[in-house]
Amino acid sequence: MANGVRSAILVTASIVHVSNHGSSTLKVIVMGAGVIGVTTAWYLAKAGAEVVVLDRQPGPGLETSYANAGELSYGMTSPWAAPGIPVKAIKWLFMKRRPLFIWPLISPTMWLWGIKMLQNCNDESYRVNKGRMVRISNYSRDSLPDLIAETGIEFDMRERGTLQLFRTEKQLKGSKADQQILAEYDSPFEVLDRDGCIAAEPALAAVPEKFVGGLRLTSDRTGDCRMFTVALAEKAEALGVKFSYGQTINGIAIENGRVAGIDTADQGRVSGDAYVCALGSYGPLLLKKIGINLPVYPVKGYSITVPLIDDARAPQSTIMDETHKVAITRLGDRIRVAGTAEIAGYSNRLGPHATDTVRHVLGDLFPGGGDLETIEGWTGLRPMTPDGTPVLGASKYPNLFLNIGHGTLGWTMSCGSGRAVADLVLERTPEISFDGLTAERYA
Ligand SMILES: Cc1cc2nc3c(=O)[nH]c(=O)nc-3n(C[C@H](O)[C@H](O)[C@H](O)COP(=O)(O)OP(=O)(O)OC[C@H]3O[C@@H](n4cnc5c(N)ncnc54)[C@H](O)[C@@H]3O)c2cc1C
Repeated sequence: MANGVRSAILVTASIVHVSNHGSSTLKVIVMGAGVIGVTTAWYLAKAGAEVVVLDRQPGPGLETSYANAGELSYGMTSPWAAPGIPVKAIKWLFMKRRPLFIWPLISPTMWLWGIKMLQNCNDESYRVNKGRMVRISNYSRDSLPDLIAETGIEFDMRERGTLQLFRTEKQLKGSKADQQILAEYDSPFEVLDRDGCIAAEPALAAVPEKFVGGLRLTSDRTGDCRMFTVALAEKAEALGVKFSYGQTINGIAIENGRVAGIDTADQGRVSGDAYVCALGSYGPLLLKKIGINLPVYPVKGYSITVPLIDDARAPQSTIMDETHKVAITRLGDRIRVAGTAEIAGYSNRLGPHATDTVRHVLGDLFPGGGDLETIEGWTGLRPMTPDGTPVLGASKYPNLFLNIGHGTLGWTMSCGSGRAVADLVLERTPEISFDGLTAERYA
């Protein structure tokens, strides 16, 4: 018996769809075809559910999942809200090539989110939040190999870890606290001196004066998130998932305390038995209208993608420049460089100098590796919660489930959160606990 059918029998009558033929198949509407919506849809369909995915774009992965840094950063899974961050943030604001921009908007949402984030910058909150994030991230790490084996999808994946590169002795010493935490969470790592960094990333031999050492997270993977999302959407379609693109969602209709359907601009109301909200940064705008207030703020970032010109001078995996908070990742015959946190509301503007910092870091660490004359620039909005942990699982409506707010690590956490949320929707027992992951923590 298909898992979806088995679960449909277990669930309350309210989310069982009984067809004219009497057989019950759960119909699930997934809102959003970014990496989170697509992984959720795939796991749902694999378990036997009937799935429809709605998205305003003409295809999958065209918003924040389009050109991120390409890191599957299991080892670097941490909240931004950490002890010492408020002081560091002030310093970052005055750097020449600064990783942080804050535009002082007259936006209560932004200020409330910022205050909540500052409240999480202490040892105890960091420990709790990191533990929650690592739970999802490690589940993702362990789920991805099976997904690849089952689907055979390709997305320029490499399994060569992340090298966090320190330009100063102070940064190297400061990583001791991280090393203790990594050991605690069973995340394998190596502390490298300058020669060790060069052994891991041979092209760094051209610029030995730029760094003093590094921390290598050996279980991290790299790959192209958009390629992954598109390829998985194709596999999901082959399993029967219907993707309905060009559908702007205007609202979530509530009747008798339950979701009755999704109101779209073109197709009218689209109804199912259960609903998953995977709308990234835009989810909270729609959820607010139905009384679900989530502190998910759009934190803007930038990337450039350049063609590889010389393999010997290029990165082999991801290098995280700790000074500029910029990640440089090898993706097949391309190099992706991403970074910057800009707090500026829902703006997709890509200004003429917006990618100067990421461009500088590539030229500084890997001169001659990529073609800096042929740049594809991009900007995306990270759906950030103040505590770094996404919002997963049940909502106040019994047939509405949440899978949003993955911030800087949506690609890393996608398989784990998609799989766990799909299990919850189908009333199967998820393999990870939802304790501390749901919207209840903001109640
Ligand atoms: C510069 C940068 C670098 C990053 N690097 C990494 C990294 O290396 N590793 C990592 O794990 N993560 C990284 N991230 C974070 C990661 O990209 C995101 O967490 C992830 O893409 C979020 O996926 P999502 O599916 O939730 O959102 P999205 O990809 O934005 O998907 C949401 C979907 O909802 C649709 N939508 C929204 N509103 C509506 C509406 N009203 N009607 C219809 N459709 C709607 C959109 O069209 C979109 O397709 C990075 C982010 C940035 C900005």
